Amino acid sequence: MGNIEKIVNAQKAYFNTNTTKDVAYRIAQLKKLKALIQANEQEIFDAIYADFGKSEFETYLTELALLRHEIDLCIKKTKRWSKRKRVWSGIANFPSKSYIIPEPLGVCLVIGAWNYPYQLSLLPALTALAAGNTVIMKPSELPSRTSAVMAKMINEHFAADYFHVIEGGVEETTELLNQPFDKIFFTGSIPVGKIVYEAAAKNLTPVTLELGGKSPTFVLQDADLKMTAKRIAWAKFINAGQTCVAPDYILVEKSIEDKFIEALKVELENYPQSSDQFDDNYVKIINTKNFDRLSELIDKEKVCYGGNQNREERFISPTIMKNVSFDDPIMEDEIFGPILPILSFSDLNQAIHEVKARPKPLSCYVYSKNKSSINKLLHEVSFGGGCVNDSIMHLAVSKLPFGGVGHSGIGSYHGKVGFDTFSHQKSILHKGFWFEPPIKYAPYSPKKLKIIRWLIG
Ligand code: NAD
Repeated sequence: MGNIEKIVNAQKAYFNTNTTKDVAYRIAQLKKLKALIQANEQEIFDAIYADFGKSEFETYLTELALLRHEIDLCIKKTKRWSKRKRVWSGIANFPSKSYIIPEPLGVCLVIGAWNYPYQLSLLPALTALAAGNTVIMKPSELPSRTSAVMAKMINEHFAADYFHVIEGGVEETTELLNQPFDKIFFTGSIPVGKIVYEAAAKNLTPVTLELGGKSPTFVLQDADLKMTAKRIAWAKFINAGQTCVAPDYILVEKSIEDKFIEALKVELENYPQSSDQFDDNYVKIINTKNFDRLSELIDKEKVCYGGNQNREERFISPTIMKNVSFDDPIMEDEIFGPILPILSFSDLNQAIHEVKARPKPLSCYVYSKNKSSINKLLHEVSFGGGCVNDSIMHLAVSKLPFGGVGHSGIGSYHGKVGFDTFSHQKSILHKGFWFEPPIKYAPYSPKKLKIIRWLIG
């Protein structure tokens, strides 16, 4: 028996002791995790800075703040969320009561992506713990120091049969996927999402797949261009565009295209334009493989801003491409880097048609003051989630379920929805012995059928 199989079996045995079902136990573990994250904050900052130059400010803003908020929410709400809920049994079951018991699924596997490595691994993991599960967490191997910090922090302070980090890449994940988990929560690319889904199907394991895609951003002619440019520039170039919900491309009304690009350029003046200006306001591309992929996507003929690169430093300056069409190579796959293609349109219906002809995106953003255009877009385009007059910030609203639809994912999390993602809703009809209406029992009769029709409809 390999080490991975041993840990899974140990977690199954521990889960079966029912210890994790105790709500006080769960809350104590969440508090312990919160304290650990706080105590290791500097190591957490240093590791990610060493991995891809992400500053303390950005790490706090985009990772630790979200984690902190979610962990506090789970500590506060786990008791309420795990309570059984009464529902009406209906007349056919009179007299009785019915209730739903949120029950933990068992042993969960959480596989994380590299781009927000703390948040994307620890947030689903802590939600799974809040719901009363045991967890094996497999962070991405690409930010290797970050993965090592998480493994050390968790494995030294939690028992392996309750919460354990397994580091590694394809080989280790493949071995993990051969195990019969009770739930797999995966964040990553669409192709690997398909591998995970297929492996899970063999054990009928339920999955949540948090995937990616090309998130369109509509800028309509009545938008406040200064504010629009400010919000889009921040959302696109934070983490150097390596954000699953970043605006992937812009669809701007032709009449305001030039003005919008000028407004974007003003916003981008605050960013480093060359690798010698590299500072804590901007991060590196994760590795040279991704650098080369992005570099090839930059069509020099279409660059109207930026485009400066340094392979050794894994630096690509914020780049805008103009006169892009849906047939350009940059429009084939999710960009996942600091290149923003701008496509213009004159007919909103045609622009919507183009978006709908492609896989359903993870996010979509619309910048406009026109209620009917906003509602038209929200009504006609299917996507995971998004914002009106902002980008990416919807994921910081814990009451909004976060997840994709179609190719951008299956299922969602954050807040109560996350708790439910890691729970089974066990349905119970509960009767006493004092009365049993004779109506459903033989001998059947037209009169009984008439009563049943009247009662049930
Ligand atoms: P990835 O799919 O390459 O890797 C994700 C995880 O899967 C990693 O832990 C990795 O070790 C593992 N993995 C990689 N190849 C595997 C294989 N062949 N078999 C089994 N496991 C394998 O994704 P990534 O590069 O880490 O992240 C980028 C992608 O993730 C982008 O598409 C982005 O949009 C998406 N993403 C989505 C969200 C979301 O919340 N929806 C968040 C962040 C990133």
